Order: sequence, then structure tokens, then C-alpha cells
Amino acid sequence: MKSKPLAIYIHIPFCIRKCLYCDFLSFAVGSSPDRGWENRKKEYFKALKREIEHYAEILPEYEIVSVFFGGGTPSVVSERDIADICMALKTAWKFKEDAEVTLEANPGTVNSEKFKVYKDIGINRISFGLQSAHDDELKRLGRIHTFSAFLESYDMARQSGFENINIDLMSGLPGQTVNAWKDTVKKVAVLEPEHISAYGLIIEDGTPFGKMYGEGGQGVTPLPSEEDEREMYHITKSILDQYGYHRYEISNYAKTGYECGHNLVYWHRGDYLGLGLGASSCVSDIRWNNTSVFEKYISPETVDFGAEKETLSDKDQMFETFMLGLRLAEGVDLKGFAEKFDVDPLKKYGSLFKKYEGEGLLELKKGCAILTPKGFDLADHVILGFME
Ligand code: SF4
Repeated sequence: MKSKPLAIYIHIPFCIRKCLYCDFLSFAVGSSPDRGWENRKKEYFKALKREIEHYAEILPEYEIVSVFFGGGTPSVVSERDIADICMALKTAWKFKEDAEVTLEANPGTVNSEKFKVYKDIGINRISFGLQSAHDDELKRLGRIHTFSAFLESYDMARQSGFENINIDLMSGLPGQTVNAWKDTVKKVAVLEPEHISAYGLIIEDGTPFGKMYGEGGQGVTPLPSEEDEREMYHITKSILDQYGYHRYEISNYAKTGYECGHNLVYWHRGDYLGLGLGASSCVSDIRWNNTSVFEKYISPETVDFGAEKETLSDKDQMFETFMLGLRLAEGVDLKGFAEKFDVDPLKKYGSLFKKYEGEGLLELKKGCAILTPKGFDLADHVILGFME
């Protein structure tokens, strides 16, 4: 029997300290070893291995096509713990020959020894959280590193033989000008990473930035105006075009052949299994989330993997297909849609397609529904139409 493809996400919820904008599920553990945290990390990795064994029994028919160590900051934990998890995954499932295995790393938390171990255990893609090439902006974000610390880490990764590297950037930062953003994008593009993600800053409630910049807040250093933010978004594509990157998703750019396989599984609505604290999964159109309570997750007595499952209705699945597929430059494959749902999308969404085509937001090309450049700008508005 042919194995089914599965993408695996492993959540590592530890960071050196919390960035001021961050609402990800992660704990600040400091830069020097703390016995309390060292013990809790040990318990966490034991729990992760229990979870891998649990799903290996339930989902034996799968083959791993990608693994993504995200967080948090996976590079703050011992490389030996990451190696143990890789080993547990390899014992549990077969890996596809060219499986993409990514580890998120933050500048200042890596060294040559770590990169050597990562390479030896099969990690073949490093994703650096840089955000900005300007130290004043990094400081305002509460990041732990400078641009030069990033350059050192990046060189180290290259020298260790990593040939597939992503760099995360963030626009719309406090005090950021359009020129400063241009400079960041160019400084990163000249390094020739294979992939660049460029997201806009989102102000999240419950974070220090939420208090500073949320409703009514001005912050000490103001955010860029909406026009400047829009301009930053537009120039990203034009600068990266010049450096040989193509935009394959609203916020993601790659050199040909280096699109992120793991994220493409999400955007194509493939099966993915999230392991670790608060991780989400969706396998065979059944979705669930792990507990976000650390003590509950690490205790074999209290943890209940995948306790609350939700089966997605056809309506939910169809909407998600458009919501995720329209973010991609390739759009939504209408033939694939018809085969999966036994519904002709041209009939079901005919009037919507017509409306958006008329507004210059969408086009039907080569059997796909694709957003135009103007449609990409108004993607949320178009996607909402499919929900209704
Ligand atoms: S390093 Fe990433 S996960 Fe950690 S606090 Fe900063 S933004 Fe959040």
C-alpha cells in the first residue's frame, strides 16, 4: 500500500527572553542554565517522545515529507535533545527520501557545534528570525541580537554546509521608515538566502506592544503610517524580483525550487501533525489542538493527546481551500477542487468569480482561480467573499 504524506511540526516553547510583540506560546528561560528550567525542558522532551510514540501507533500508514522545528526558539535547547527527537521520528515513521527538515534558529543562540549536529541528524533547512537589519529597530522589538550577530550566525550556517536557508523579516516596525525597510530587504537579498519571508508587524493584545500600540496607545516611537506600510509591502516584491526571487505566496519569496515544502502542505490543505505544547493538527480533515498548559502536557497522567477533535464539514473545507489557495501565486486548482468535493466550482462560485473578475481582483487562468496583483492587495476582502 502506498504511504500517505504527512508534514510534522514540533513546537519548542522556549526562548531566551520574550520579544515585545510576541504572542507565540513560549517561555523566557534566560541565557544561562537555570536548574528549574533545565528539569522542565527534560520533562518536555520526554513528553514529546511519548506523543511521537502515541501517533506512530495511530497513524502508521504515513510517510514524513517534512518536519519543522518551530517555536519559541528551537536553537536555544541542546542540539542533543533535537537529535533525540529526530531519532524518535525516524523510528516511528519512514521519511521520504527528499524530506525537508527545517529548524528555526535565532541569531546569537547557535554555534558551529550545533550546526554540525543539526547537519548530521538530517536537518537540511535553517530558518533565521532576523526581522530587521537595523539595530535600533531590533532593540525596539526586544530582540536579543544585533544585525552583525545575525551575519555571524548566517556565515556559520553556510560554512557548516547548509544550502537551504530562510530569513524572516518584518515590516511596519516602530520608527521604521520606507528607506530603512528598503535597506533591510536589500541587505538580506545580497546574502542570497534561498528563501525570504516578509510579514507585517501585527499588534497583538496581551503583549507589551498591545499595551503600547493597541487601541488608543501611541507608544514612545510611533508606527509607520498606513501609506508607508503599503509602500513597504509593494517595494518588497519589486526589490526581491530584481534579486531573482519570485513571490509564491502573499508573504513568501523563494529562488526557484526553494519554496517551503512544509508550508505548502498547509496551504494545499495536506495532512499535518503538530506535536508539542499548543500544537495544532489536521489529518484526514479532522482538526485538533494540544493543551497549552505546560504542566498538563508534560504529565503522563493529565495529558490527553488530541482530546478535542473537530471534523471539518464540506463547507469548511471548501472555504479553507479558497482561503489558503488564494494566498498562493498558483491559486486554487479548480479541477482538483471538483474532484475532491464533487462540486463544480464554476457553478458554485460562478457569480463570485464574475464579480471579482469584473473588479480586476481575480482571474481564471489555466484551470486555476488566481488573484491578480490588485487582488493580492485586497486578499482578505476577496477571501471573505468565499466565506459568505
Ligand atoms: S524569539 Fe520568536 S517566539 Fe521567541 S519571543 Fe521572540 S518572536 Fe516570540
